[in-house]
Amino acid sequence: MKKFILTEDELPRQWYNILPDLPAPLPPYLHPVTYEPLRPEDLAALLPQAVIEQEFSPERWIDIPEQVRDIYRMWRPSPLCRADRLEKALDTPAKIYFKFEGVSPAGSHKPNTAIPQVYYNAREGVRRVTTETGAGQWGSALSFAGSLFDVAVTVYMVRASYEQKPYRRSLMHTWGAEVFASPSERTQAGRDILAKDAESPGSLGIAISEAVEDALAHDDTRFALGSAMNHVVLHQTVIGLEARRQFELAGDYPDVVIGCVGGGSNFSGLAFPFMADRLSGERPGTRFVAAEPTACPTLTRGAYAYDYPDAAGLGPLLPMRTVGHGFMPAPIHAGGLRFHGDAPTMCALHDKGYIEARAYEQTEVFAEAVRFARHEGFVIAPESAHALRGAVQEALAAKETGEERTILFGLSGHGHFDLAAYDSYLAGKLEDYTIPQSQLEAALSELPKAGRL
Ligand SMILES: *Cc1c(COP(=O)(O)O)cnc(C)c1O
Repeated sequence: MKKFILTEDELPRQWYNILPDLPAPLPPYLHPVTYEPLRPEDLAALLPQAVIEQEFSPERWIDIPEQVRDIYRMWRPSPLCRADRLEKALDTPAKIYFKFEGVSPAGSHKPNTAIPQVYYNAREGVRRVTTETGAGQWGSALSFAGSLFDVAVTVYMVRASYEQKPYRRSLMHTWGAEVFASPSERTQAGRDILAKDAESPGSLGIAISEAVEDALAHDDTRFALGSAMNHVVLHQTVIGLEARRQFELAGDYPDVVIGCVGGGSNFSGLAFPFMADRLSGERPGTRFVAAEPTACPTLTRGAYAYDYPDAAGLGPLLPMRTVGHGFMPAPIHAGGLRFHGDAPTMCALHDKGYIEARAYEQTEVFAEAVRFARHEGFVIAPESAHALRGAVQEALAAKETGEERTILFGLSGHGHFDLAAYDSYLAGKLEDYTIPQSQLEAALSELPKAGRL
């Protein structure tokens, strides 16, 4: 495996903001009650001021604070690797590269935004941050960040995962966070759900409502979101900026960039610096592929519409591809890909044809993850294996036509906390799941009346 390594000095000094480069202005966020365009001050009780400014910033380049770069250096720049053993196994003329984010302390790309979010909160005197987590990757990243800045962290963890994935919970406790199974009795949003269904397995949308309600109820507390919003995507562009520089070292450039999509942050973080080259006309031919699970098919089957980021409708209306804020995804193992919506910037580019989307079944995804482990060694997160599946499809298509093709995929995290899922797959117990059209239509019928895009 050939690796392309940058020195600490080459760690990017700025994040890339795609907002000013979009082919058309992003539709405004709307106020959840009035449906009027959201004003920055509407978010003041929820997010720190510096983060709100970034959310709406028209600046293309935004400085990464030195204190944040200092912490990034614990594991960044992350390696860009060439999967040449996999290429050989596939007998393809294509070159497959992956950008490996599993080297962070929390094991995924999520600390790239958890660190700056907690940093800005600490700088503004916030004592506690609340958040949602599904499988636990975001909760653990934020807990890690909280421990470094001495900010308390409260995590609402989707109940199904809280019960099935105790080790991510242990990780959060080790970093000093408090963790509650969601829906919980601690919030009105949680109590309302439990009144209807005492056995509710929870969802990311419900957990977000609980974390938001908790933050709004306490002056010294703010909320931190793990994906989708512009500031999260902005922080994640450190991935793609490094990768673009690493491709210079390799003397190469990707023909196709692939990432898995939960809320769209690792995909966008990897893709947007390359997308900038396409939008500027410098690299007009680069393709972008977003890989999602058939169990939560936001890009391939969702509606492009305004929707809430949370189940109770407390957060701002976001213009995005959504399967509906009340959608309860099946308990597939790629827990990080079960969010009902996606990053608005990514959805806007998808809508204009700049991003292709594909949905994969979990057994084909695990088959690739196992093949990858046996040729490249790393046991990767089921989420990341969706991107890998997309990369292998591209490599096999290149083999068919005998063409050269340079493929880059985002390896968003390691799979060391997902071994129960690997066990199920290896025992032949994993089942595919495609949501029935009727369930999808039921969830979409509850979209807010703010309209389709
Ligand atoms: C959370 C997570 C994802 C999905 O989230 P995005 O915001 O779409 O990036 C993907 N991979 C891993 C390893 C994750 O932890």
